Amino acid sequence: MKEISCRLLVIGAGPGGYVCAIRAAQLGIDTVIVEALKTGGACLNVGCIPSKALIHAADEYEKLRHAASGSNPFGLSAQTPALDLGRAVAWKDAIVGRLTGGVSGLLKKAKVKSIAGRARFRDGKTVEVETETGLQVVRAETVVIATGSEPVELDVLPFGGSVMSSTEALALTEAPERLVVVGAGYIGLELGTAFAKLGSNVTVVEALPRILPQYDAELTRPVAKRLEELGVKLLTGAKAKRLTGAGKAIAVETAEGKEVRLAADKILVTVGRRPAIENWGLEELDLDRDGKFLRIDDQCRTSMRGVYAIGDVTGEPMLAHRAMAQGQMVAEIVAGHRRSWDKRCIPAICFTDPEIVTAGLGPEEARRTGREIRLGQFPLSANGRAMTLAAESGFVRVVARADNNLVLGIQAVGRGVSELSGAFALALEMGARLDDIAGTIHAHPTQSEAFQEAALKALGHPLHI
Ligand SMILES: Cc1cc2nc3c(=O)[nH]c(=O)nc-3n(C[C@H](O)[C@H](O)[C@H](O)COP(=O)(O)OP(=O)(O)OC[C@H]3O[C@@H](n4cnc5c(N)ncnc54)[C@H](O)[C@@H]3O)c2cc1C
Repeated sequence: MKEISCRLLVIGAGPGGYVCAIRAAQLGIDTVIVEALKTGGACLNVGCIPSKALIHAADEYEKLRHAASGSNPFGLSAQTPALDLGRAVAWKDAIVGRLTGGVSGLLKKAKVKSIAGRARFRDGKTVEVETETGLQVVRAETVVIATGSEPVELDVLPFGGSVMSSTEALALTEAPERLVVVGAGYIGLELGTAFAKLGSNVTVVEALPRILPQYDAELTRPVAKRLEELGVKLLTGAKAKRLTGAGKAIAVETAEGKEVRLAADKILVTVGRRPAIENWGLEELDLDRDGKFLRIDDQCRTSMRGVYAIGDVTGEPMLAHRAMAQGQMVAEIVAGHRRSWDKRCIPAICFTDPEIVTAGLGPEEARRTGREIRLGQFPLSANGRAMTLAAESGFVRVVARADNNLVLGIQAVGRGVSELSGAFALALEMGARLDDIAGTIHAHPTQSEAFQEAALKALGHPLHI
């Protein structure tokens, strides 16, 4: 058994953990990071990056199929396009390899000591790690729990056989002929859309009355329309009951209370993610919980002195950029800087077709603050760049206080609008007023002009509508 001591121990090398470790080491803190599986966590290995690679491959293939059908407006034609999904998956794996290798290199360059193995707390300052070469004990002044999250399994549809989580879906080398997606949140719809474009017959089963229930109906309408165009069947208000037909079908109770049988070669269950709080000795610590998550304060401190928690294990929104921002902040706090969570917004993106971006408050949330608000919404059908991209579906919307024009929230739906998220978040963080956005020159022709026009519209004098 080996024993080492350090000032900071980070458990989990996902986006929260690795950013925390790199920043801490930059600040001269002697740091150790432990990872049970692969550097990069869910995000780089089985989440953000692989899903976006698959979505891109599917988009390219769909464009070719569209060209082959002769129904595009550009005069393009193509003959019987084909896709080798195995090659696309190998390309995706190569990207993952480059990024995870890059993170390992950055940790090494920063002089973070990395230990491969599963960490388990003995007490709040001591952790033991089962490594390939035996038990390693790490004593630390401060510990950061960054153990992330795992897919939620349904009792009626346990993972295995034809029932898969997003992790297995991202590794398929052939598109299933019939795919049933259970859960119409962003992960289910991103992957369901990609497989529909790859040629699968996709049915989405959602228990709530509409898709993407966390977004307002106006934002999700263009996505629902596009799913219909792609031939994706939506069963909302419907509950998956059990696997049937020797694992090749599921029984579903429809909104009308009828039981129907959906034939499926694969069933993708995406009903949420839960914090990874098992198998690392939580019972040895006295940590308060916030529902199923670890409770933290505005400095990511848990209820135990010297123990911090960051990322998905601490709750919603379970997003990589939130985990990274928390990781950076905690490293700086440990280094003695005065920091606390003072973010005005955590932008969220749904990489569906079209994409959805939200930052700050939506109209309903803003109204609930009791203040009078102004809304400005500009359709992409009136934006020149969107026309040249044949991507006119969607809009940009700005929500602001009526008394002083302070921008409270910005939302968009449209092809490629994910790239506007930085501008939205910057405007909110900097406390922009409608006049600031309206008075900023936005390059022409770009979809970002719709952001300026939405602000002009909220001010009552749009130019292009
Ligand atoms: C399909 C999919 C698509 C997604 N797309 C997006 C997206 O587009 N944008 C976005 O922002 N987010 C996206 N997410 C969510 C994003 O992946 C997570 O929010 C993010 O990875 C959370 O980071 P984290 O550091 O908290 O945890 P994780 O990335 O989950 O990393 C935790 C790490 O801790 C390790 N670990 C756990 N327990 C131990 C232990 N006891 N000892 C040692 N190591 C341990 C795990 O092996 C893991 O590597 C997606 C997720 C999925 C599944």
